[in-house]
Amino acid sequence: MPATPKRPPIATLIERLHTAHPNPRYELDWETPLQLLVATILAAQCPDERVNRVTPALFAKYPDARAFAEADLSELEQDVKPTGFFRNKAKAIQGACQGLVARFGGEVPRTMAEMLTLPGVARKTANVVLTNAYQIPSGVIVDSHVARVSLRLGLTTQDRPERIEEDLMKLVPKDEWIAFGPAVVLHGRYTCKAKAPQCGACPLEDFCPKKGV
Ligand code: SF4
Repeated sequence: MPATPKRPPIATLIERLHTAHPNPRYELDWETPLQLLVATILAAQCPDERVNRVTPALFAKYPDARAFAEADLSELEQDVKPTGFFRNKAKAIQGACQGLVARFGGEVPRTMAEMLTLPGVARKTANVVLTNAYQIPSGVIVDSHVARVSLRLGLTTQDRPERIEEDLMKLVPKDEWIAFGPAVVLHGRYTCKAKAPQCGACPLEDFCPKKGV
């Protein structure tokens, strides 16, 4: 029986992800860093498509950080209700926007340290905004897809997002961080699915140890 590789060759893995997802795009609709921040908060445990149905009216009603910061909270809750967990999400959006207005002139800052001062903003949300809106390689986006795929591929043995990200940042060259996260998200969404991974159609199959599959 052939030996199972301990860890996939990272350069090959990246090259094949590039081929499968040449322009990996986070599938939320947005036009400004603030809109991406709000959409990312709404996307927690909610499909991107549903978020994208809610945000056009939301962004028209609340055009800037001050509008979200000064919104009537119960009205904002109703506006984001279709995305689920609407009380927490409305509170997080308002808290983050109040922080933007109070400390950053209403603009979304450009560093991880500043992003993490915003209430309700953790590394994943900060990475989504910094890497997509500003093209700053602040880290590697780790959502549920990236966590699952990384574990199955043997890129990490950790289960906490911060620890998984640390492992990925050590393995993946920094100039690949921006594309790697969205590419793995797409790979997890369409191929390495949670319940039924499509290993037979997977471009990584020949070196994937399929841990936990
Ligand atoms: S071979 Fe299977 S488990 Fe491994 S990355 Fe591909 S779909 Fe996921």
